Amino acid sequence: HQPILEIRNLSKSFTASGTLEKLSGKTKYVRAVNNVSFQLNKGEVYGLVGESGSGKSTLARTILQLTKPSSGEVLYKNQDLTALKINEMRKLRKDLQLIFQDPFSSLNPRKTVGQILEEPLRIHGVKKAAIRQEKALALLEQVGLQTEHYFRYPHEFSGGQRQRIGIARALIVDPEIAILDEPVSALDVSIQSQILNILKALQKNLNLTMLFIAHDISVVRYISDRIGVLYLGEMMEEADTDSLFAEPLHPYTQALFSSVLDGSKKERIPLKGEIPSPLAPPSGCVFHTRC
Ligand code: ADP
Repeated sequence: HQPILEIRNLSKSFTASGTLEKLSGKTKYVRAVNNVSFQLNKGEVYGLVGESGSGKSTLARTILQLTKPSSGEVLYKNQDLTALKINEMRKLRKDLQLIFQDPFSSLNPRKTVGQILEEPLRIHGVKKAAIRQEKALALLEQVGLQTEHYFRYPHEFSGGQRQRIGIARALIVDPEIAILDEPVSALDVSIQSQILNILKALQKNLNLTMLFIAHDISVVRYISDRIGVLYLGEMMEEADTDSLFAEPLHPYTQALFSSVLDGSKKERIPLKGEIPSPLAPPSGCVFHTRC
C-alpha cells in the first residue's frame, strides 16, 4: 500500500479560557490532539471513532491546516502541509475536501444549488460555463438528486438532501482525499444509511481516499476498511475493521464496544479521565501488539 497521507505525531493544544482559569489567573492548556500518528493509503476508507470531545474535529482541522497544529507533520504525497506557505496550501486545497455534519450554514441561501456546485469549479479555474454545468448535473445525479434540483435553493431541501449537496460540492473538484467529520450524525437513521450507501458507491467509483470521522461505531464499522480509536486526543489502537471488532486489544476499545454492542443501556464511557479498566492509559503502544 502506498500512503497518500501520513499524520506524524500530530498535537494541538488550546489555551483554556473558562471562568475558572480567568479567576485563578493561571493558564491551562487543553491537549485536544496528543501525539497522533496514522496513515491513509490511496483508495481506502480510514475510520476514526471517538466520543464527543475526543479531539476528532480538531484533528480534521489540523490535518487540513484550518487550525495550525502545535507540533507534528502532515505529509500529503510526501509534502509536509504544516510547513507550506498560505498560497502553497491554497493550491492543494482542492485535493483535500472537508464534508461536515450539517452543510446548511455553509450553503449560500441566495444561490441555487447549481450556482453552489459550480462555484468551487470556478474558483479552481474551470472557465467554461458549459463544462461547469455539465459537471454539476453529473454530480447531482451521482448523489441521487434530480436535474430540477439544480434550480432550487438550499432552504427547499431536507437534511439528507442538503448533505447530498454538501457531498456533491466537495467531490465536484475531484479531490484526492475527502475528510468527513460526522457526516451523518445529524440525520435520521434511515437517511443515514442512504447517505452512507451513496458515500460508499462514490468512494468505490472514484477510488477516493476517505478519512471518515464519527462517534457512532456502527456507522464507522459499516464504511471503514481500517479504524483508529481516539480517546482524549490520543490514538488508543488501530486495526483493520474485522480484526478490531473480532478482537479489540485496548481496554478502552473493549469498553467502548461492549457499551454499544451488548445492547445494555450504558449511556457512555466515563470521559473525564479514567479508562474503565484497572490498566492505566497507555503512552505509546503497550497494549497494542499489532504495532
Ligand atoms: P470532538 O470533535 O471529538 O467532539 P473536539 O476536537 O471538538 O472533539 O474537541 C476536543 C477538545 O478540545 C475538547 O476538550 C474541546 O473543548 C477542546 N477544544 C476544541 N476546540 C477548541 C478551541 N478552539 N479552544 C479551546 N478548546 C478547544
